[in-house]
Amino acid sequence: MSQKKYSPTIGLEIHAELKTLTKMFCNSKNDPDEQKPNVNICPVCMGHPGTLPVINKEAVKHVLKVGVAVEGELADFTEFDRKNYFYPDIPKGYQISQYKYPLVKGGTLSGVALTRIHLEEDTARSGHDEGDYSLVDFNRAGLPLMELVTEPVIKSAEEAGTFARELQLLLRYLGVSNANMEKGEMRVEANISVSDTDTFGTKVEVKNLNSFRSVERAVRFELERQIDVLESGEKVIQETRGWDDGKQVTFSQRAKEESHDYRYFPDPDLPKLMISEIPEFASAALKKEIPELPREVRERLSTSYGDKLTEENREIFVRVIPFGNYFNAVISAFAGEKKHEKIAINYLTSDLIGLMKKDFGDSWEEEFAKVSTKISPENFAKLMRQVGESVISSRGAKDVLALMYKDGGDPVVLAEKAGLLQKSNEGELSEIVKTILQANPKVVEDFKNGKEASLQFLVGQGMRATKGSANPAMLATMIRESIAK
Ligand code: ADP
Ligand code: MG
Repeated sequence: MSQKKYSPTIGLEIHAELKTLTKMFCNSKNDPDEQKPNVNICPVCMGHPGTLPVINKEAVKHVLKVGVAVEGELADFTEFDRKNYFYPDIPKGYQISQYKYPLVKGGTLSGVALTRIHLEEDTARSGHDEGDYSLVDFNRAGLPLMELVTEPVIKSAEEAGTFARELQLLLRYLGVSNANMEKGEMRVEANISVSDTDTFGTKVEVKNLNSFRSVERAVRFELERQIDVLESGEKVIQETRGWDDGKQVTFSQRAKEESHDYRYFPDPDLPKLMISEIPEFASAALKKEIPELPREVRERLSTSYGDKLTEENREIFVRVIPFGNYFNAVISAFAGEKKHEKIAINYLTSDLIGLMKKDFGDSWEEEFAKVSTKISPENFAKLMRQVGESVISSRGAKDVLALMYKDGGDPVVLAEKAGLLQKSNEGELSEIVKTILQANPKVVEDFKNGKEASLQFLVGQGMRATKGSANPAMLATMIRESIAK
């Protein structure tokens, strides 16, 4: 090993398909779930001669909202440019994008400085997995696509992963994109370089990163590869590399193209946009439509629940949006009664998630919204109140929760029907206590001689005899009193 110290530099370029009803420049449907190829197409997105594009206002608004959320500078003047190149997935022979005047400049997210955010159209999807020919599906051609570029300020693979996750979360909170990486709705390209001086080293761009894990692994791999290249006295070549997820390596794809290769020029078919002249694009108007953002939710949860909520559980509420909303609704149902909050947090994050994981594994997050159709937040809160007030044992509450999870229902009715309400009826319990003491003379003797653990055993017997429906604290008191007599 040499004594040189290499510092890593990473800049990300992230594309996200925007959630709109129609495509970026025509009224073909924007349906990411359409499986049948080439149904959401029209002469405009197929690039037929004589057609004219029309700007999708909603898509522009989505990008501007992201701009407001990251506190970037919204463009006043903006235009669309043609980026010219030939490829089977680009029917017009050019992609409509933005070059000189992006919708947003600057801003920060997760501590990372942003360069710009612009709007363009997606390409078609090509498939090369069948026979000795390729297939092209144009459903994706012309979907609104946001591109966000960061400054070269990211210093590690973990930081790159964190940034990408945080962006996904922001896009979801804003409702502008589903940003599902596995579905290709969010695609990350990482620019990576290492240097042992205070100027930047030659960067390599890595593509095909379709999960957060591959982002982190590819960056890690590439940093090591570049250090090895430099250590062996060679130079890093500026190029585009792909990520092979099977082999866990990056591989050379092509030499990097320069922007002048694309012959960018303003698209003469589209009007220039004077953002400040469109009232609904004013940042004050956009702000009104922006919901509570992830960093604000984190702050609110930390201040409201303090030690009752671990950081790990807080992040689950932040990350799984319907779960976080559900938690808020449960808390509202307590109507200011704070003493059940901790119990609710425990039952939500361990028991309810536990039930869901049994059915769905890690995809419980996508399935959560369905739960509230069975267990209303009000009924969940009701069950928590029963636990908090010892009307039902925690054992019993878990059973009731499982019943509610399966078929819904009112927890009070369910608990009664299953005989799970705590027996606090002294007459009934004293009969049971008497029987237990008679059946366990040795244990009673031990307790009299000071063995406290014996009491636990006797309480346990009482719980068993009542199928968990006795109030354990009450049982313990009654056993103590009965022995002392
Ligand atoms: P290009 O013109 O080659 O596309 P840009 O300057 O537009 O390069 O930068 C593209 C991306 O590469 C940005 O995310 C930027 O932060 C990143 N980047 C630029 N220089 C470096 C470098 N030396 N190391 C790592 N990333 C870099
Ligand atoms: Mg670039």
